[in-house]
Amino acid sequence: MSSGERMQGIDALGHLYRDLVDCRRCPGMQGPPVHGQAVVSPVMMVGQAPGTREILQGIPFCWTAGKTLFRWFESIGIDESTFRSRALMSAVCRCFPGKAPKGGDRVPDAAEVERCSGWWRTEVELSRPRLIIPVGKLAIVQFMASKRLNDVVGAQWSYRSPSGLEADLIPLPHPSGASTWFKMEPGKTLLEVALSLIDAHPAWQEIRTGSAMGRASPAHRGGAA
Ligand code: SF4
Repeated sequence: MSSGERMQGIDALGHLYRDLVDCRRCPGMQGPPVHGQAVVSPVMMVGQAPGTREILQGIPFCWTAGKTLFRWFESIGIDESTFRSRALMSAVCRCFPGKAPKGGDRVPDAAEVERCSGWWRTEVELSRPRLIIPVGKLAIVQFMASKRLNDVVGAQWSYRSPSGLEADLIPLPHPSGASTWFKMEPGKTLLEVALSLIDAHPAWQEIRTGSAMGRASPAHRGGAA
């Protein structure tokens, strides 16, 4: 991608985010919608949905799950602020779904997931990532049929968007403190393998060194509170 194309992509993401923050299509969701920085990057991460802290601060993964996630990324050479400024941080749903009756956050329903999918699908087309990292089951099933973490974490997969854009997929479990999957075997080992695969991917190495990166202008930065 040329630097001109990259700047156009950053501008288009900025416009997209100005529309996104006004989105109120889902009556059962609590906004305002959250997005990351407008950065055209070879690496895109797709989370599930923000929690209450993320909604308050307008920053994805800004609380306890984020601490774990960024500890994982730091173990493979990229600290939190570098990741936020060099990787596109997306999510399946951009608003807080509310609490589930039995505790924990409610899983967005199919209609909410479908309504919100236009935002992340447009981000894919504008940023044109070569590596997509879906984080958590809800994100993983947007890209592949199986949602069993044991079957998909620890391997690299392929993604082809409806427009024909191709990218590698390396799924991660959700880093929520409520999850025990990545703390016990085989999850512990599968997580280590997945992080090794990300570490070895050329797109990850590119954002680690900062080579050929598109950065957001301050006017297009999201979630800067
Ligand atoms: S969840 Fe997505 S589609 Fe629904 S109101 Fe929030 S931003 Fe809009």
